[in-house]
Amino acid sequence: MSTTITFLGAAGTVTGSKYLVETGSRRILVDCGLYQGLKELRERNWDALPVAPHEIDAVVLTHAHIDHSGYLPRLVKGGFKGRAFCTSATADLCRIMLPDAGRLAEEDARDANRGGYSKHAPALPLFTEDDALAALAHLQPAGYERPMPLGGDVTVEFLDAGHLLGSSFVKMRLGGDGGRDILFGGDLGRYDRPVLPDPQRVESADVLLVESTYGDRQHPPDDDGEALAEIVRGTVGRRGRLVIPAFAVGRVEEVVYWLKRLEETRRIPVVPVYVDSPMAVEALRHYASHSRDLDPDMQAKRGQLGAFTTRRFTAVTSPRQSQELQAGTTPAIIISSSGMATGGRVLAHLKAALPSPRNTVLFVGYQAAGTRGRRLIDGAAEVKIHGQYIPVGAQVTAIHSMSAHADADEILRWLRGFRSAPAATYLVHGEPEPQAALRDRIARELDWTVNVPAYKDTVTV
Ligand SMILES: [Zn+2]
Repeated sequence: MSTTITFLGAAGTVTGSKYLVETGSRRILVDCGLYQGLKELRERNWDALPVAPHEIDAVVLTHAHIDHSGYLPRLVKGGFKGRAFCTSATADLCRIMLPDAGRLAEEDARDANRGGYSKHAPALPLFTEDDALAALAHLQPAGYERPMPLGGDVTVEFLDAGHLLGSSFVKMRLGGDGGRDILFGGDLGRYDRPVLPDPQRVESADVLLVESTYGDRQHPPDDDGEALAEIVRGTVGRRGRLVIPAFAVGRVEEVVYWLKRLEETRRIPVVPVYVDSPMAVEALRHYASHSRDLDPDMQAKRGQLGAFTTRRFTAVTSPRQSQELQAGTTPAIIISSSGMATGGRVLAHLKAALPSPRNTVLFVGYQAAGTRGRRLIDGAAEVKIHGQYIPVGAQVTAIHSMSAHADADEILRWLRGFRSAPAATYLVHGEPEPQAALRDRIARELDWTVNVPAYKDTVTV
């Protein structure tokens, strides 16, 4: 019986990861992600899958990012009865991220109904917080490098991808010993970075799916935190505040790690550091408790939240504490989400900090077109927050070195770990331009044939 893969997401785009594997006897969905970003993509979240959810035997998640896990509540609501296999850290992060996504979807639907700007009347959330909580019961955590039988002569195994706490490549073996391997690359992490380990070397696969987000780009060279140190010193020198909008899971940890390291090596003064995001505070706890999954350098600090705290560190817990912080004017570093300043508690901090030239706003992640973060980076003289126009007097700047995705050189470095070319390689999770550039580069440098699947393409493997 032949096996097919159908690309139901992350085909020619960077979100919505979903690959349906159909063997003679099993239907397995690898990754179960939401589409995010452009409206025409988000609308696909409402489309029915080509198979009914109850006909899918199992889900396997590469990692907890919403574009890889966020469709699970919808799938469960639609009748999926099986288990969703993932690493134990992925399960922990999903337990905070999926309910949060449900809450946001409910808020958006409420706002749309209030503003009357939905074409659906009334607007409904894609899924609710309760749907997300119901989905969590399907999570089946497993360790790295422990092959698990899914029935029908299919086993899966998680290998460390180094992209996010708990992130993995999924190695799927069809046909038992001597069978064929499909390697689902998930998102590929980076080499020689703090906090997370390097992506694990893989030496062989018959079929490979690999991401291509930065297929045409290089990240800036590592500066050992110097750009961040300069920004902190400059802001504190002006007696100002540094506000860092950061994605709550994955990015806050790295920012705190660098601040701690700069403090310990006395490259920045010790100032109060506040993390004002309940989800980020919870994620920090999971990072501390899963220290064995972190970079070997971090493991000496095993089990201590201290690995992710500076000398004068405060995890802001209550809204009242957050308001007091907004009202303060003494030098401080405030890390809060959302990372693109599209919502969340960071908005109140921006409102307070943006008018004064003493302050700095620092972006540490990608700022998508149309977001407030992007407008600020592009030099807006004022931004609208909670219906009010706020003048921008503060310095607005960005650091681009904290990406969690491999750049083109790092993708090639990982591919060079293979002893021979897979029989078929598919580029996923990328926009058309980077994909074309990466496909050409892999052909030129490795002499591999590479395919770029389109949405809903089915291939026989
Ligand atoms: Zn990811």
